[in-house]
Amino acid sequence: MFYEFKPTETIKARHGTELRCKTWEAEAALRMLENNLDPAVSLVYDELIVYGGAGRAARNWKEYQTIVDTLKELAPDETMLVQSGKAVGVLKTWPHAPRVLIANSNLVPAWSTQEYFDELDRMGLMMYGQMTAGSWIYIATQGILQGTYETFAAMADRHFGGTLRGTITVTAGLGGMSGAQPLAVTMNDGVCLVIEPIDERVRQKVREGYLDEQARDLAHALERCEQARAAGEAWSVGLTGNAATVLPQLLERRFRVDIVTDQTSAHDLMDYLPEGEVDAVLALRAAHPEEFKKQALAAIVKHVAAILELQRRGTIAVDYGNNLRGQAEKGGLRVRDEDGQFLYPGFVPGYIRPLFCEGKGPFRWVALSGDPQDILRIDRALLETFPDDKLLARWIAKAQAKVPCIGLPARVCWLGYGERAKFGLVINDLVARGEVSAPVVIGRDHLDCGSVASPNRETEGMKDGSDAVADWPLLNALANCASGADWVSLHNGGGVGIGNSTHSGMVIVATGTPEKAERLQRVLTTDPGMGIFRHADAGYELAQDVARERGAKIPGLK
Ligand code: NAD
Repeated sequence: MFYEFKPTETIKARHGTELRCKTWEAEAALRMLENNLDPAVSLVYDELIVYGGAGRAARNWKEYQTIVDTLKELAPDETMLVQSGKAVGVLKTWPHAPRVLIANSNLVPAWSTQEYFDELDRMGLMMYGQMTAGSWIYIATQGILQGTYETFAAMADRHFGGTLRGTITVTAGLGGMSGAQPLAVTMNDGVCLVIEPIDERVRQKVREGYLDEQARDLAHALERCEQARAAGEAWSVGLTGNAATVLPQLLERRFRVDIVTDQTSAHDLMDYLPEGEVDAVLALRAAHPEEFKKQALAAIVKHVAAILELQRRGTIAVDYGNNLRGQAEKGGLRVRDEDGQFLYPGFVPGYIRPLFCEGKGPFRWVALSGDPQDILRIDRALLETFPDDKLLARWIAKAQAKVPCIGLPARVCWLGYGERAKFGLVINDLVARGEVSAPVVIGRDHLDCGSVASPNRETEGMKDGSDAVADWPLLNALANCASGADWVSLHNGGGVGIGNSTHSGMVIVATGTPEKAERLQRVLTTDPGMGIFRHADAGYELAQDVARERGAKIPGLK
C-alpha cells in the first residue's frame, strides 16, 4: 500500500520566502507536512511514519501527493478537509477561516478499539495520526524535551534536593519522543541509563547529541553509570537491549536505581518489542502478528513487575505517558491499589498538573525561513519579553547549548495563559519588521492543558473524577476554529493508544500583518484559556485564581 506511488525526490521542507501556494498559511501547512516526513525527522520514512509507533503524516504516498497538490491550489478563502491522512474535500469558507481542518483516527466510542482500528487501517480507510504526526506540527525530539526536562526537574525538587546530581535514572526507548530522555536527565545534572533494542537507534541518538555514549554490554553500562554517579557527573549511557530483559537483571544485581520510568511505544502492542533477538522478533511481527502481540504483552507484564519491585525497594517510579501500566493491567498484572489508583503515578498528576492550571504546556514555533538565526532572534525577544522568568532563561540557555537543529529550526517553550498571546504578538512584530526572514508557525503539542481527555495520562486522577470526559478537547477544537486558527485537528489515540484519548491541535502562522496580530491575540488566548476553564471547572484552585487574576471569564466563578 505504501509503495504503490512514491515521490522520486526525497522530501524535505522548502526554505526561504518563495511561495508555491497562494497564501503563507497553505505554504506553512505544506512545509510542516514536508518537515514531518524529512528523513532526518521521521522515524520510518518509507512508511510515512513520523514518531510514536505508527504515527503517520499522511495515509500513504498517493494521498500525500494529493494533499500537496490540493494545498498548492487552495484559494485564500478555501479550506481543505483531511480525513485520516487523506484530502477529502475543499470548501469555500472565509479568508480568516482555517485553511486546513483535520480529523485523524476517530471512531464511534463503542467501536474504538485497537483491533477494529487495525482492521480499518489494513483496509486503507484510516491511519494513526498520533498527536503531532498527522496534524503536521512535529518538531522532532525537541518537541518533548522541555516537558521531559521539567518533569525531571520537578522530581529533582521533590525527591533529591533540587538536582539529579549523583542519581541514576533508568528508562527505555530511544525513538522519536523517547530519545529526549537522556538529554533531559543530563540537563538536570543526573546520570541516565537508556535501554533500546534497535542498535541503530542508540547510535543515531549518540550522533544527534541526545545521548553521550553507547555501552558495549550491561556490565560496561553499569560501570559507566556508577563512575558518573560517583563523580557527580551528568552523563547518559545507551544499552542495546530489551527493557523486559534488562530490568530484572538490575534487580538480580541489586543495582541502585534512583528513578525508573519508560517511554517505549507500549500504547500499541505491535510497537513494543518482545524479548529475543531483534531480527527474529521483527520477522515474527511480519509473519504472525497475533503471536507477536501475545509475546509483547508478556514482556510488558515482566517489565512493569520489575518497575514495581524497584519501587518497593525505594526507587521513585513514574509513568511517562505511553500506557505501559494500562497494557500490563490488560496482561493480568495488578497495577492499582484498593482505591483504583495506579501503584505508581503518571507524570501529569505526579508533577505537571500545576503547570496545566496556569495554562502552560508545550507551546512551540518554527522558522519557515529554515534559518536557525531566526530562532536565535526569537529567543532573544523571548528573554526581553519575560526578563524576570528565571526558569525560562535557564531553559533557553540549555536549549541553545544542547538542542540539535533537526529539520526546520524550531523552539519548544512552555508558556502559560496570557504569555502565549503576548509572545505571539512579539513574533508577529518581528516578522512585520523583517527581523526574522519569513513567517513563523506557532502551535503546540496535543498534550496540552486544555486540549486532551486521556484518563491514563493528561487527565489521570482529576480532582472531580472527570478523567474520561471528552467534551473538552472537542470544545477546544471548535473554539480555535471560531477564533481564527490556520489549521485545527481532532484525533483519537495519541500517546496512549486507540480508544484511550481524544485530543485536538491548533496552529496559527505569524505573517506579520495587522489582521494576523488580531487573530493571534484571539487564538493564543482561547487555546490556553481552555486549560484554565478545564482545570477551574474540575475544582483546581490554582486555575480558578489564574482565571480571576488574568481575566479568563468563567460563568459563575466568584
Ligand atoms: P517511537 O516508536 O519513536 O520509539 C519507541 C522506542 O521504544 C523504539 O525505538 C523502540 O525500538 C523502543 N522499544 C520498543 N520495545 C522496547 C522494549 N521492549 N524495550 C526497550 N525499548 C523498546 O515512539 P516515541 O515517539 O519515542 O514515543 C514513545 C511512547 O511515548 C509512545 O507510546 C508514545 O505514544 C508516547 N508519548 C509520550 C509522550 C509524553 O509526553 N509523555 C509524548 C509523545 C509520545
